[in-house]
Amino acid sequence: MREKYHKQSRRDIHERLRSVSSWVGKLGLLLSLLLLAVVFWEGDGTPWIALEVGLYTIIFAAITLASARDFHVRAILFSGLVLIYLVFWITAFIYAWQGEVLRLGLPLVSFIPFMVVMILSHRILIALSPVQFVFMFVYTKNHAVLPYGEILQTTNSTSFSLLMGALSAVTFLILALVSWERSNTDRRLLALIGLQERIAATDHLTGLLNRRAFMNRLESLWNSDGSLILVFLDLDHFKPLNDQYGHATGDFVLHQVSKRLRRMAGTEAVARLGGDEFAVVFGAEIDRSSIEPLIARAHAEITSDIEVEGSTISLGVSIGYAENLGNTDTLSKLLGAADAAMRRAKATRSGWARFNDRIDGAALASSTLKLDLKQAIRKQKIRAALQPIANAQTHKTVEYELLARWPNSGLDPDPGPDKFIHVAEQLGLLNEILWMTLEEAARHLDFTCARLALNVSPAQLLASDFLPKLLERLSKLNVDPRQITLEITEEVVFRNLEENVAVLDSARKTGMLIALDDFGSGYSSLAMLGALPLDKLKIDQSMVRKAKGDERSADILRASVELAKQLDLICCVEGIETEVAAKEIERLGADEVQGFWIGMPELVSDKRNSAEKHEFV
Ligand code: C2E
Ligand code: CA
Ligand code: CA
Repeated sequence: MREKYHKQSRRDIHERLRSVSSWVGKLGLLLSLLLLAVVFWEGDGTPWIALEVGLYTIIFAAITLASARDFHVRAILFSGLVLIYLVFWITAFIYAWQGEVLRLGLPLVSFIPFMVVMILSHRILIALSPVQFVFMFVYTKNHAVLPYGEILQTTNSTSFSLLMGALSAVTFLILALVSWERSNTDRRLLALIGLQERIAATDHLTGLLNRRAFMNRLESLWNSDGSLILVFLDLDHFKPLNDQYGHATGDFVLHQVSKRLRRMAGTEAVARLGGDEFAVVFGAEIDRSSIEPLIARAHAEITSDIEVEGSTISLGVSIGYAENLGNTDTLSKLLGAADAAMRRAKATRSGWARFNDRIDGAALASSTLKLDLKQAIRKQKIRAALQPIANAQTHKTVEYELLARWPNSGLDPDPGPDKFIHVAEQLGLLNEILWMTLEEAARHLDFTCARLALNVSPAQLLASDFLPKLLERLSKLNVDPRQITLEITEEVVFRNLEENVAVLDSARKTGMLIALDDFGSGYSSLAMLGALPLDKLKIDQSMVRKAKGDERSADILRASVELAKQLDLICCVEGIETEVAAKEIERLGADEVQGFWIGMPELVSDKRNSAEKHEFV
């Protein structure tokens, strides 16, 4: 862990050096090219000057290239600068020996070397300081006297040269000190960042990795190799233990478990994911055949008694593990597989279980569906489809039923509402779906021509604030509640009938109609029709299907239509797939029909692309 975060901060520092190097390279290159241009423009450049500036150009170009390619940036920058320093001095001596000492000579050699070495490391600076002393001394002694002769006549030229040499050498040492200080600060900062990251990555109670850090680690292991064994552990009955013995004891137990987990050999990472959940991951090196015994031993160790202040606590743990299931699988599938195995271990009290596609496949699919659906809802990916309900005589659309769709789910095939609606119900997310689809549909439906029917599950209806929330949404969307039908199923009778009746009564007071959906598909009883405040009966498509070939079933269908009429309910028959069926239902005297022959459910977004708003009606 520590390594990893240090690496990150080191990379930051390296990036800083790379950017400095890139600037030094580019500016140096620009300056050298300018110099070259001036030298050739003036036409008085000696071959020595051309060579000198040419060398600078090459070195700066190398520095620029190295930083652009991120290739040994530090080494090339530093050695490049040292080279430039040496070339500068050597050519300065060559010019001097050729008798070309200008008045500018001394000021140039007194400044340029400092500019060149300024960003070097303290070690190089310390090493260069005596070199600088010698260069400076010799240059001043032998070559500065000429132009500054009159000034220097009064002073001792040796002591003046010594002074110049010493001052410049000391300046190098001061630069070394500054550079050393800077790298010290970097180091301290690195340590601090490392510490901070370590704290953020650890679970404070046990010192193991926390969930976030574990997931990061898992992801990087997955990306680097992918051949992993993931183990999930969940303590049994930890909550009652916590309640009975107190939180201090609970914490102690968690600490003991973490200690025992740490002892497992060959692990890549051990984590407390939260509460009483732990996870372990083994890398590619582990011998597959040793896993089962390892897990068995871990189970035995964790479940061995824990002594706390005179009492003995025996702990249960359920362990599930999964190996990555080949290259096509995803990390989230591996996570789901280990989880499914752990749940089976818990349900069967077997202690531990290895993921088995045949046994845990369905559980995994449902947990994957849960995860995917949660995300789809969060990202507002559930779409509205509308299916027309028509007058049985005129076949004119009088209402649309709102149906949820999950296109582009990433699953093959896209799950239908028969699959995902009950999962959303388990997750308590049915309202989210309703609001999402209602809004989409309401924006594109012309309510002056047709009503809108909403499917409402018993659980939704029972939530105390369902009706106020629905009314609030409708008013926001400018929809009159009198244009809305709520389709409920007979299940509302089995769950808390009185409360449901109260909600339905209030809904009717706002002008909504209540339809009993899927009549005849379950255990529909006449008592139910009396118990619920209803306006409409939707006769299930299974009844229509059966009536096709069977006299008795046809009688039942006829009687059901008759019953609805007797009870003064609007009668709608579902599942009309042919003209023949439509004619037959019309003859029976039903009020409304719904089915593929009347119209398929269509995505609102598809409709929208093909036509204007009013084309729905
Ligand atoms: P439902 O309320 O009985 O909706 C009618 C279902 O029958 C729809 O299936 C529709 O596509 C299908 N259908 C319509 N006409 C015909 C036909 O002529 N022949 C055949 N074979 N089928 C026909 P879908 O859309 O798959 O919905 C299935 C169920 O999922 C719905 O049954 C409803 O109970 C539930 N559902 C759909 N969307 C939602 C929703 O947003 N919220 C809630 N709570 N439930 C929903
Ligand atoms: Ca329905
Ligand atoms: Ca239905």
